[in-house]
Amino acid sequence: MNEIITLSDVKKSYTDSNHEVTNVLHVEEMRIHKGEQFSLTGPSGCGKSTLLHIIGGVLEASSGEVIVHGTHLEKLSMQQKDAFRANNIGYVFQDFHLIPSLTATENVQLALNKPSAASLKSIGEWFHRVDLSGKQTAYPHELSRGQQQRVAFIRALIHQPKLLLADEPTGSLDVKTASDIMELLLHVCIEQQITLLCVTHDMAVASRFPHTIEMQQFNRTMQQGVYE
Ligand code: ADP
Repeated sequence: MNEIITLSDVKKSYTDSNHEVTNVLHVEEMRIHKGEQFSLTGPSGCGKSTLLHIIGGVLEASSGEVIVHGTHLEKLSMQQKDAFRANNIGYVFQDFHLIPSLTATENVQLALNKPSAASLKSIGEWFHRVDLSGKQTAYPHELSRGQQQRVAFIRALIHQPKLLLADEPTGSLDVKTASDIMELLLHVCIEQQITLLCVTHDMAVASRFPHTIEMQQFNRTMQQGVYE
C-alpha cells in the first residue's frame, strides 16, 4: 500500500453551550502517498489545524474514516492513539514547545522511550545535520528562535517517524529565518523520505513544497457554507 493517509467522509463539528452545532470540516476524500511533502493552505479559520490534529490523532473526527499508516484512528482508544502517535508521527508547532529548564539534548530525549548510547549518538548526528553542533547542552533561552525550532525538529524526528505534521512551524519567525528553516525542513524530509504535511497561511512558504492542499478545495463546509 502506497498511501500513508486516507480520509473518507470526515466531518468535524462543535456544539456550544446553547447546543448549537457548528460544522467546521467535511473532507469527502483525501489520499496522501508515502514520502510526499504537502503544504496545507487556506485563510485563517478554514480548518487547517483541525484537519492536521485529526490526522495526528489528537482530535477526534465527529464521523468518517481516518486511516494513517494502515491504522483506523477512529477505532483506537485514547491510550492506543497516544502510543500510535509516539511510534509513528512527529509533530512540530509554531511555538516550539521546548521545556525551558531542560537542555537542548534533554528536550530531544523526551521524545524517546529509553534513551540509549545509540540514541545519544543519533542525537549528536542530528544536531550536526541541522547545523547546531556545539549547542547540545544549551538551554532554550540561550538559543535563537530559529535554533529553538531546529531543536524541535530533532525532537520530532528522533524516533524516525514516517509522517511529520507541522502546524505553522515558521509562523513566529522573521522572514529570513523562516525561509532557512523551511528549506531545512523540506530538505530533511525529502532526503529521509518522510511524509510531511505542513500548515501555512503564507503562500510564499507554500509554493516551495512539491504539493499543496488548498483547504477551499477539500473542505466542503467552505464551499457550501454548511453541510447536512
Ligand atoms: P485554521 O487552522 O485554518 O485557522 P482551525 O482548524 O483552527 O482553522 O479552526 C476551524 C474552525 O473551527 C474555526 O472557525 C474555529 O473557530 C473553529 N474551532 C476550532 N476549535 C474549536 C473549538 N474547540 N470549539 C469551537 N469551535 C472551534
